[in-house]
Amino acid sequence: MTIYLDHAATTTIRPVALEALEDAYVRFDRNASGLHTEARKAKNALEEARERAASLLGTDRPHDIVFTGSGTEADNLGVIGATLGSDHKAIAVSAIEHKAVLNAAQSLTRFGYIVETIPVSTSGVVPVDRVPSGERPQLAVISVMAANNEIGTIQSVREIADAARLASPGVVVHTDAVQAFNSQTVTLEATGADLISLSSHKFGGPKGVGLLAVGQGVVIEPMIHGGGQEAGRRAGTYNVAGIVAMVAAMEAAAGDRAGFRDRTRAERDALESAIVAGFPGATVTARSADRLPHISHIRFPGVLAEDLLIRLDLAGIAAAAGSACQSGAVEPSHVLSALGFTDEAAGECIRFSFGWDTNQGEGWRAARAVLDILSDL
Ligand code: PLP
Repeated sequence: MTIYLDHAATTTIRPVALEALEDAYVRFDRNASGLHTEARKAKNALEEARERAASLLGTDRPHDIVFTGSGTEADNLGVIGATLGSDHKAIAVSAIEHKAVLNAAQSLTRFGYIVETIPVSTSGVVPVDRVPSGERPQLAVISVMAANNEIGTIQSVREIADAARLASPGVVVHTDAVQAFNSQTVTLEATGADLISLSSHKFGGPKGVGLLAVGQGVVIEPMIHGGGQEAGRRAGTYNVAGIVAMVAAMEAAAGDRAGFRDRTRAERDALESAIVAGFPGATVTARSADRLPHISHIRFPGVLAEDLLIRLDLAGIAAAAGSACQSGAVEPSHVLSALGFTDEAAGECIRFSFGWDTNQGEGWRAARAVLDILSDL
């Protein structure tokens, strides 16, 4: 039996989401934009899901939930859409954003926009006092993730948002809460953001669905043009089943945050303690920072991450080196570079990530497997 410790890359679909998906395909498999009865049934299911998603994200304006085809698309729409909707030409992003945010912002530089990168501390935290201020171009958008997908550090988005608004009145604050949703309260109010991106498959929903929650009055220029769906903000025939299933997973995840935190933290702590005790050179990245409970990033000095990963795989343990969305890339992770890791150190790191269906004891068993392999290398 494989011990799957790559939940930050993608989670197991929750039974409630799978049921909702199948049920929606059976009952509402029609084009929700049509005018006949079957289309209206699909539209009703879609709008009911939108209302539930809105209420989970703390807004009473369901039409400010824009369903997208992924977290990546939500990030792109948040960053590019809000920048194009603003009169200002500068964007600030933290150095450890997901590439969906970094590359979206970067794409605008070809059109004359300026991108400022906010550095992070060596423990992967965005310092509030590094938010751009003073004599400089007014920001259109600032994007700081709620929590990082590689090392798990949680950011003070609310304080960053306040500082940014002080320096650049009218700035739109975007936060990528893709990894945070499982364990943290994610609402417009709690994060202090104007825009929140989520991805269904990171909290037990189906892949290929995401959403962008849009705060009141925020102008978003659409990126996908067509039939005017999503109140003109994102065209394309509605993925009713995917959306309904995503919202079912959202409700399940939001309803189990305390349990998720307890279960994953227990497994993570067991893994980290056993590894650090058994291989004293090992260091847990950002161990003392405020971290998501389900992500553990560990450096094994002198050990090539690829070698360890392959042996772990043979031993039935699935983990990751660097960010899964970039796996296959030989470049060291930009997140680790931002923390000051050398390329060599970055190549000695493994990410173990836990999920809603992680079983008790898996953290400890994975640590034993790691230590057995290390003693053999
Ligand atoms: N943002 C973060 C923090 C992520 O971890 C990921 C996926 O790894 C994404 C965005 C992209 O989401 P999706 O896979 O739905 O495109």
